[in-house]
Amino acid sequence: MADATPPFDDVLPEALRFRSPAPLVDIGANLTHESFARDLEATITRARAAGVTTLILTGTDREHAEQAVGLARRHPGLYATAGVHPHDASQWSPSLAAAMRELHREPEVVAVGECGLDFNRNFSTPAEQERALEAQLGLAAESGLPLFLHERDAGRRMREMLHAWRDDISRAVVHCFTADRETLYGYRDLDLHIGLTGWLCDERRGHHLRELVGEIPLERLMVETDCPYLLPRNLPAKLKGRRHEPALLPWIVREIAHWRGLTEAELARATTATALAFFGLDMNHNAHHALEEGPRHG
Ligand SMILES: [Zn+2]
Repeated sequence: MADATPPFDDVLPEALRFRSPAPLVDIGANLTHESFARDLEATITRARAAGVTTLILTGTDREHAEQAVGLARRHPGLYATAGVHPHDASQWSPSLAAAMRELHREPEVVAVGECGLDFNRNFSTPAEQERALEAQLGLAAESGLPLFLHERDAGRRMREMLHAWRDDISRAVVHCFTADRETLYGYRDLDLHIGLTGWLCDERRGHHLRELVGEIPLERLMVETDCPYLLPRNLPAKLKGRRHEPALLPWIVREIAHWRGLTEAELARATTATALAFFGLDMNHNAHHALEEGPRHG
C-alpha cells in the first residue's frame, strides 16, 4: 500500500510523554486491535518508557485471544486473557468452549475473559450472553484462573450469576467499572476487584465515579487503559489519530490518585502490587500459572 502519511507518529507529543514514579500494570490493553497493527513494537516501547512494564492483553474472542497469546510469547511483560465478549456471545458453541479450554492451559494466559453481560448494546441477546457467561464461569472454576469481566447496564444479573459461582472462582475483576454506588457495594460484597479506566477523566460522564473512587478498597483497585478505546478527554495535548495507548496510563493513575487523595506514586505501587498478585505474576515476568498450583477452592 502506498499510504503517504501513517496515521500515528512514532513519538508522542512532549506533553504526553509521561513517566510513572513506579512500575504500572495495564490490566486491559486491546493491542490486537487493528489500529495497532502498524506500530505495535513502537507502542510497546513507548509503554515501557512510560513505566508501564506489564500489559495484560484482552482476548475478546478466539481469534484475538490466539493473537494475544502469540504477542505475549514474543514480548516479556506481556500476558493474555482468553474469553468471549458478551457482544460475541451468540457465537458460543461446544467447539468454541473446547478451544477456550485449550487456550486457558497456555502459560501466557492469565485470566478467563473478557466475558460478561452488556445489556446496554445487546449485540447478542441477553439469553445468549447469559449462556456464554455461565459457561465461562465454569471454565474459570475448572482452570483456577481469575476472571476478567465486562458489565454494562447489567449489574443486578451479573451479581446474581457471580453469587452462585463465587466460592468456586479464585478471583474476579470487573474491568472498566462505570456503574453506580449500589452496584459497587454489591461487587464489594462478592469480594470482586475493580478496574478503572480514564472514564473518570471525562467531565461530562465521569463525575459520579470521582465521588465513588474513594469507596473502592485500595487492595481491590487496578488500573487500565482499555486502549484503543476511552482516550482520556482531559489530556494536556492533542493526540494525532485519537487512539488511546498504554503509555498514557500514568495520566489516568494521576487522575485517580487525585480524586482518591493519594500521591501518584502511592497509587501506582498499590495497584501494581494488587495486579501482580491478582494475575499471579512477579516483576521478573514469570507467570505462576494457576494450573501448576492445583485447583483452588474457597
Ligand atoms: Zn469491556
